Amino acid sequence: MSRFRLQPTPAQEAALAEHCAHARHVWNLAVEQHAHWKPGRKMAPGFAEQCRQLTEARAASPWLAAGSVVVQQQALKDFAQAMANFFGGTHRRPTWRKRGRAEGFRIVAVKAGDVRRRSRNTGEVKIPKVGWVRFRWSRAIPDGAKSYRVTRDRAGRWHVAFATVPQPIPVPGTGQVVGVDRGVAVSAALSTGELLNVRGLRDTEKARLRRLLRKLARAKRGSNRRTKVKTAIARLKAREADRRKDWVEKTSTDLARRFDVIAVEDLKIRNMTRTARGTLDAPGRNVRQKAGLNRGILAAGWGRLVQRLEQKAPGRVQKINPRHTSQTCNACKHVASESRESQALFLCVACGHQDHADVNAAKNMRDTAAGHAAAARGGLPLGGPVNREPQPDLPSAA
Ligand SMILES: [Zn+2]
Repeated sequence: MSRFRLQPTPAQEAALAEHCAHARHVWNLAVEQHAHWKPGRKMAPGFAEQCRQLTEARAASPWLAAGSVVVQQQALKDFAQAMANFFGGTHRRPTWRKRGRAEGFRIVAVKAGDVRRRSRNTGEVKIPKVGWVRFRWSRAIPDGAKSYRVTRDRAGRWHVAFATVPQPIPVPGTGQVVGVDRGVAVSAALSTGELLNVRGLRDTEKARLRRLLRKLARAKRGSNRRTKVKTAIARLKAREADRRKDWVEKTSTDLARRFDVIAVEDLKIRNMTRTARGTLDAPGRNVRQKAGLNRGILAAGWGRLVQRLEQKAPGRVQKINPRHTSQTCNACKHVASESRESQALFLCVACGHQDHADVNAAKNMRDTAAGHAAAARGGLPLGGPVNREPQPDLPSAA
């Protein structure tokens, strides 16, 4: 990631904090609106409607009106994305933002002239209503950054991170289709039989994290010691997150380079059929749901992997209805939940075919995608329609 340490002056820091306060306020208003929503009631307002309401709120509140409309609109956009992630089953429901925790805001429609270099080690970024803010030029800035996010960590340090959409990777033209299943025991299983794993924290790091968490429980609120422990915990978690992001980048590039078509499960459908799958798919998926803390983290990484695949291989990602993919025998196509012997093993009750359970599912996804491609042949050539997902950082209406 291209994150840089910001070096605001005290006056600028106050202005940045004001942007954060506005973003937090608008986000919390959106949370409140959606909290009142109950099934059967009229739909809670979407992004476009909320933008209209924001205009009204700005007219009524001089405090909001004095802030940047981009900052406030993007907070709504973030919220809309968070709700989409929630409904997509990859994230928890967005909740209240508290002062001092995960503070930040986003600026979009960034022009090339909004970032400039001052010296070998310093650069400047133009932030609306704040002006030119210095940052440490610690690495190359990615070309074509269209948006950036400013954040303040718990230790009070400010950072700016530039977002870029990765360039599409050319189709290899091998005609190869790959199925990618989100594994339980592994991070991802390919229909080629490859099992991919995110490199998380090492055992020594995990032990250290446990020690720090115990220390935190004993440390007095508001004490210096507590702040120190918290910072150390935050560093370890950031390291883990960096490794996950790194894995997503490498894996998505590798898949886009090797395969013409990449089949992944359609999370939206998965979410809709969750209840049915709870009973049908009992052995596999319930355990997955109970995996606890790690589940959300891995799920977030999965959503990011699919997003990156769609950017690097536009029009080449096929979303497959995941129904039955884990209970269908890839050899004889017999469907039976009993065939899922265990978390890791698929053993067909009809023909005795045996495979890694996640690999078997990935193969079913590959075959479904290949079937779609065959059916569409002559109509839509591979790589023809470019279905790019709307980018969350563009200020377009919903
Ligand atoms: Zn079979």
